[in-house]
Amino acid sequence: MARRIDHYLRDLVDDSKLEFYGVVRDFVESEIAPRLLGWERDHVLLPDSAIAKLAEIGLFGLSIDESYGGQGGGMTDLVLMGLALGYHSQSLAITPGAAISLGAKPLQLCGTDEQKRAHLPDLAAGRRMFVFGLSEPGRGSDAANPEVSATREGSEWVIRGEKCWSTNAHWASHVIVHALTDPSGPNGKRSTCFIVPMDAPGVFYQEMSGKRVWQQSSTGSIMFDGVRVAEDSVLGEVNGGFKVMVTTLNGGRLFIAGLALASLAFALDKVRRYAEERIQFDDKPIGRFQRVQDVIIDMDVALERNLTWLVHCCRRYDEGNLERERAAKVKLDSSRVASELLLLAMEACGGVACLDEFGLIRHHDDLFVTRVGEGSNFALKDLVVRPLRQSD
Ligand SMILES: Cc1cc2nc3c(=O)[nH]c(=O)nc-3n(C[C@H](O)[C@H](O)[C@H](O)COP(=O)(O)OP(=O)(O)OC[C@H]3O[C@@H](n4cnc5c(N)ncnc54)[C@H](O)[C@@H]3O)c2cc1C
Repeated sequence: MARRIDHYLRDLVDDSKLEFYGVVRDFVESEIAPRLLGWERDHVLLPDSAIAKLAEIGLFGLSIDESYGGQGGGMTDLVLMGLALGYHSQSLAITPGAAISLGAKPLQLCGTDEQKRAHLPDLAAGRRMFVFGLSEPGRGSDAANPEVSATREGSEWVIRGEKCWSTNAHWASHVIVHALTDPSGPNGKRSTCFIVPMDAPGVFYQEMSGKRVWQQSSTGSIMFDGVRVAEDSVLGEVNGGFKVMVTTLNGGRLFIAGLALASLAFALDKVRRYAEERIQFDDKPIGRFQRVQDVIIDMDVALERNLTWLVHCCRRYDEGNLERERAAKVKLDSSRVASELLLLAMEACGGVACLDEFGLIRHHDDLFVTRVGEGSNFALKDLVVRPLRQSD
């Protein structure tokens, strides 16, 4: 049974993009998908060998300019990668996904030429990885005023405090730290971003324990105990750190919307296949029951609608005119709809859906992250409602 998502993508993207998507899809199908369940049962992160393979086929270089050794391309390509990898596992997809959309992207958007030359070639090759240090134990949705601080001492900045929920921390070479630098400045202009090497004296990383979602993805806490960095570590402008973070999140939210749709696409194919195989009552498949059909139809409609919407947003992003609320809207709607439908998809399959080898439970759990990650859906509504409340 062909993937339903491929049917829609054929209408939405050009042949070269479709070919790229097909290469990544086939690579995952043969090289990674057969090993995922084993890693999950062993509770291990994505092995280094798998990350090396993703690097080998150039995925860490996506959307990085060719002059820096990247593959070029834009947000549509990045989202296509997320759809191809995320169909089997969001953990797998978020590893290069966060490395690019949250790691390399702020550097591309706000870095100096010197910073780009120093890091982008290694990031594109997968030899380095940046993590996005916005969230803290005491600052989640309320991220504009970090508790992590950076103070000037002579020609250096000294960073103190703790970041958490940092995706890819285990493999990271550097962390982009969002730190308070001017507590009395105007709101949104009190913080600065710094590029800090993970092996700098005073940086301590610990993998967060007990996480039951995105199980093969690394999620770390990173402590900064008087970490000294030079002036050229500042990313963007001094006291312009929140702008760096917010600009970055626009693209990150499109990627997260793609992950939600990748899970929905997997579940749709699983349910429609199972509904024809599973026989109950009178030797007939459960796919004949209208209530099971309703679930399948709703999933199919949601996939086509939100995928079309997402590809449209990616195009606008690449043209440089996607408003923040539109990126937020497609993320919040795709994650909400996909996670609500996933539960119904499991119900339509019955008890077998509880088994890890059936594959739905992984997507069900991972979809929760798409609801809270890169801005919780509840909090994002503050952004979405703004243009609705402006008087003309
Ligand atoms: C697996 C995973 C990976 C992550 N990776 C990263 C990463 O790489 N880098 C990074 O910096 N962060 C990362 N995050 C953090 C993520 O961005 C935060 O979880 C998110 O911003 C929400 O913050 P919080 O969890 O502290 O929730 P809180 O801010 O404590 O909010 C809790 C809840 O309160 C409600 N709420 C909060 N504010 C509002 C509001 N304004 N209006 C209405 N309701 C509201 C919502 O229901 C919200 O879900 C990751 C999180 C997870 C789970």
